[in-house]
Amino acid sequence: MTCREVARALQACLDGEADEVTARRVATHVEDCRRCGLETAVYREIKNSLARQEVPDEKAMARLRDFGSALLTAGPPEAYDEAAGLGGGR
Ligand SMILES: [Zn+2]
Repeated sequence: MTCREVARALQACLDGEADEVTARRVATHVEDCRRCGLETAVYREIKNSLARQEVPDEKAMARLRDFGSALLTAGPPEAYDEAAGLGGGR
């Protein structure tokens, strides 16, 4: 599963709306991918805030939005190279 697919499926997974296979793929990915793991943590934080009827942290919301739109428009950002070991070698 790619970061882009994870970004799309993440919300449904954390809401318990994704099917089992998708949820497992996302879980596996976020364990291996530091960037997606981080965003998952941020997303959980937001959900927890909402569950407690607090106002979600605005910075966290903005970061999550950036993350999602960056992935959907431009593909995985710089952290991808680091994780995959594809640095370009220059
Ligand atoms: Zn990822």
